[in-house]
Amino acid sequence: MTDIKIIRTVKELRSWKSTTSGSIGFVPTMGALHKGHLSLDNPYTVVSIFVNPSQFAPGEDLDSYPRTFDQDYSILSNLKIQNKTVSVIFAPTISEMYPSGIDLDLTKQKGAFVTVLGVSEQLEGKTRPNFFRGVSTVVLKLFNAVQPQFAYFGQKDIQQTVVLKRMVKDLLLPLEIIVMPIVREDSGLALSSRNSYLSESLRSRSSIIYENLQECEKIYQESHNELTKDEIVSRFIDLINNEPDFQIDYISLANLETLEELSTIKPGQSAVLSTAVYVTENNRTIRLLDNIILN
Ligand code: AMP
Repeated sequence: MTDIKIIRTVKELRSWKSTTSGSIGFVPTMGALHKGHLSLDNPYTVVSIFVNPSQFAPGEDLDSYPRTFDQDYSILSNLKIQNKTVSVIFAPTISEMYPSGIDLDLTKQKGAFVTVLGVSEQLEGKTRPNFFRGVSTVVLKLFNAVQPQFAYFGQKDIQQTVVLKRMVKDLLLPLEIIVMPIVREDSGLALSSRNSYLSESLRSRSSIIYENLQECEKIYQESHNELTKDEIVSRFIDLINNEPDFQIDYISLANLETLEELSTIKPGQSAVLSTAVYVTENNRTIRLLDNIILN
């Protein structure tokens, strides 16, 4: 068990940083940590835990989002991969990250925000129109605070990785984004902090999402001809939408860099097959995300 330094201000973070030499790997999270969040590839690893208000719309689950700092601290301090441990947890207050304040109501917001056009509006951006503006803004702030050489994001949130890679490229940020593979429960369900909202039985039934994505992948892998998107996903749509409590928000076949929708795919052509599925239980609905990269 390691004693990890907990840092709450940018000033303290900068002064810790001035004592280090060697690359810093950065893992931004909103806490409620699970295995999917972690990677230790650098001499120093900073994990940030910050539930970012600006990516929640009014009425979303900002207040009830799971906050489990003590448990997160204990997970991180028990973590050792190839003899490396987490060096710092950066857990700033809202006023540290938003010195001019932050209102969830977009019309009342003032100050600097980042939008990454062309890849933020579709898929997740359709149901959550300002989500990626909030994510890009906070991630740029965190990059400025931590100044890492490498930043790690999960493939589970594939659109987020596309948006942030584009932000890094277009704003000439001096760091590399590394995409970590999806970590799953034994059933195949992608790990997510929001899975804790589901009962054991619905959680186990939710494995149908990944099972059926794999079936789509099989259709693509086994075909020697160009296929239409329909030929790949129509069974997925029927099976999920006919399952009680499940409703597809989207199933997308898209270019991996531009997220432009593809109507057909040739053997060997890369694409991302991604989905969001609404799951309803006791009058509460959550969205589960998953994806497979076809190549
Ligand atoms: P969050 O705390 O949910 O904002 O997630 C923080 C980071 O962990 C993001 O880069 C996520 O994409 C990543 N992540 C979350 N769940 C998983 C998972 N099941 N597998 C891999 N990475 C994940």
